[in-house]
Amino acid sequence: MPLKYELIKTCKQSGARLGKIHTPHGTIDTPIFMPVGTLATVKTMSPEELKQMEAQIILSNTYHLFLRPGHEIVKEAGGLHTFMNWDRPILTDSGGFQVFSLSEMRKITEEGVEFRSHLNGDRLFISPEKSIEIQNALGADIIMAFDECPPYPADYEYVKKSLERTTRWAERCIQAHQRKEDQALFGIVQGGMYEDLRKQSAEQLTSFDFLGYAIGGLSVGEPKHLMYEALEYTIPHLPSQKPRYLMGVGSPDALLEGTIRGVDMFDCVLPTRIARNGTTMTSEGRLVIRNAKFEKDFGPLDPNCSCYTCTNYSRAYIRHLLKANEIFGIRLTTYHNLHFLIELMKNVRQAISEDRLLDFKEEFFDQYGLHNNDKGF
Ligand SMILES: [Zn+2]
Repeated sequence: MPLKYELIKTCKQSGARLGKIHTPHGTIDTPIFMPVGTLATVKTMSPEELKQMEAQIILSNTYHLFLRPGHEIVKEAGGLHTFMNWDRPILTDSGGFQVFSLSEMRKITEEGVEFRSHLNGDRLFISPEKSIEIQNALGADIIMAFDECPPYPADYEYVKKSLERTTRWAERCIQAHQRKEDQALFGIVQGGMYEDLRKQSAEQLTSFDFLGYAIGGLSVGEPKHLMYEALEYTIPHLPSQKPRYLMGVGSPDALLEGTIRGVDMFDCVLPTRIARNGTTMTSEGRLVIRNAKFEKDFGPLDPNCSCYTCTNYSRAYIRHLLKANEIFGIRLTTYHNLHFLIELMKNVRQAISEDRLLDFKEEFFDQYGLHNNDKGF
């Protein structure tokens, strides 16, 4: 068995889960935030730096690696772990989300999706079998079934047809999977914002007995309260002895709200993407380091942070680097933002172990300034 989920305890105050996921490349503590390394690199960070900030697992994107350098080259290099010099667990997505969000002129049929590359317009095709073939070549510890991710909003009939196709595709993914001994395949629950469709999708997918389940089709532009409601009526239909992964979520408030509703794994480009234009998450809330008021601020980015950036550099220096388009500035904000979320989840795990996650959430939201805010982070 390539993956085993171990439920350590459930928080008496919140119902959140504390657990471990055992994989061929090591054990992950859950709930966990996974940094995103789209093109086999977490932008501007070395694997050594990721380890220093205690990243336990990273995510890489199948669609992007299929386009370049191509999965055959990664396979020839010895797989993604060797290719990118990362010996801890990796998760690859199925490519489904990117095919639907990035590519042009896509045509969905029962067989799969035809689309044009967002890089050069090449006509390409990904089917469930192709997605699994690519992910088998990449060799991540956790791989995802190829799904269709409907946009928000989408009408009931469309979402129903789409989730039923996702179920048929999931079955084809299981059939196509060639590395069952060392790669764990997860199913992806769809169903949009419709309670009965989420239930239908969850029941169909859990009948296949995947090693874990993702909740897809959320964080696609809907208000956060709808996402939380969807988690509340989806998660009870998932088995407690398997990990649950909420895809594309990484704002501090959503990490806490998702954890409280029973999610174990999260990923998002948010911390790295906003870092590149100078926005940082700190214990006192969002801070845009490019602002003029930091010109002569020689204090750390976050006075309550112990990361490499905050230990060694000032707001004024980081602002100067970013204003001058120096790459090191982006490295420093990226390092801090990733460290911030990894540290947040470490504190969340501690709070679960002490049965006080709701108290922790209140304290964190107060300090961060998150109360009564439906979209900020
Ligand atoms: Zn820091």
